[in-house]
Amino acid sequence: KALNKILDIKGSIRVFCRVRPFLLSDRRRIHEPISTGLEKVVVKSVGIRKEYRYDKVFHQAAAQEDVFVEVEPILRSALDGHNVCIFAYGQTGTGKTFTMDGTNNQAGIIPRAIEELFRQASLDNSPYNIFNEHAGGLHGNLNIQTDPKGMVEVEGLTQVQIPDTVKAKRWYAKGRRARSTSWTNVNETSSRSHCLMRITVSRHGDDSKAKAQVSKLWMVDLGGSERLLKTGATGQTLDEGRAINLSLSALGDVIAALRRKRGHVPYRNSKLTQILKDSLGDNSKVLMLVHISPARAIETYRDLTEDINMQRQ
Ligand code: ADP
Ligand code: MG
Repeated sequence: KALNKILDIKGSIRVFCRVRPFLLSDRRRIHEPISTGLEKVVVKSVGIRKEYRYDKVFHQAAAQEDVFVEVEPILRSALDGHNVCIFAYGQTGTGKTFTMDGTNNQAGIIPRAIEELFRQASLDNSPYNIFNEHAGGLHGNLNIQTDPKGMVEVEGLTQVQIPDTVKAKRWYAKGRRARSTSWTNVNETSSRSHCLMRITVSRHGDDSKAKAQVSKLWMVDLGGSERLLKTGATGQTLDEGRAINLSLSALGDVIAALRRKRGHVPYRNSKLTQILKDSLGDNSKVLMLVHISPARAIETYRDLTEDINMQRQ
C-alpha cells in the first residue's frame, strides 16, 4: 500500500473528482443523482449513462479533511523542490471555492496548506487575480517576464515575506476580500475570474552559503467552466466569459500536451498558461480537482470533462 502511494505521487499529473451534495438551496433545480466509486463517477441524465474515470473520487459526503489527506503528499513535494499546481475546475456552483477556501468551520485546502507548510518551511506568498486575458487583474496589466533560466515572473505582483501562519492567513484573507470587491466592480453577478494564489517556498540547506532551493506552489480557483451560449451573457460579462473559456481550453491543451510527454507544449496561448509555464512541466506536479454538482443548472454537466480532456488516461 505504501509503495502504491509512492508510485501514485510519482505520476506528475493527477485528476481527482469531487461531487458536491444536493443542497437546500438547490431545491428549485433538477436533482440528477450521481453515483460514485473510488475511481469512477457515473452520471445518468435524460436516459444517457456516462462513466468518467479519475485517479480518485470524493463522494458527496466527503469531508474537507478527507480531501486534504489526499492533497497533502502533493503539497509536500513542494518542499522537496518541485513546482506544484493545484487547480479547482468546474462550472459555477459546483464547489470549487468550497474546496479551495472552505468556510469558517470547514477550512478548505488553502488555509490547511498554509498551516501545513508553516510547520515545515519559511515562505512568502502573493495572491492575485486575473480577470481578463488582456485587462489583467487587481494589480493593473500583468506583465510576464521569463528569465534566461525559464523562471517566470509576473510584474506588479505583490510579494510579501510572511513570517508565520497568523500573518499568512491575514494576507490570504486580504486577497480574498480584494477578489470579491473587484468582482462587484466588474460585474455584480459574475464570478468568472481565475483566482491564483502562489506560495513560494525557499529552503536553505545545511550549508547557509549555498543557494536556496525555490519552488512555487500554485493554488488556483479557476473561473467557471460553463459554456457561454447557455449563460445568456452579454457585454463585459461575455468578454470576461470568453477570456475564461479561452484560458481554460489553453490550460487543457497544455495538460494534454504534457501528458503526451513529447512534442510542442502550447504555453503561449493564454496569460494563465504563460504565468504558470515554469510550474507546469518537467519536474512539476499537477493536481486537477474536477468538481461536479448533482443540481442541474446552467447546463448539464455531461460535457464537463469531454472538451478539456481532463479525465484520467
Ligand atoms: P463555485 O466556487 O464552484 O462556484 P461554491 O464553492 O461557491 O462553488 O459552492 C456553491 C455552494 O455550494 C456554496 O454555498 C458552497 O458552500 C456549497 N458547497 C459546495 N461544495 C460543498 C460540499 N462539498 N459540501 C457542502 N456544501 C458545499
Ligand atoms: Mg467560486
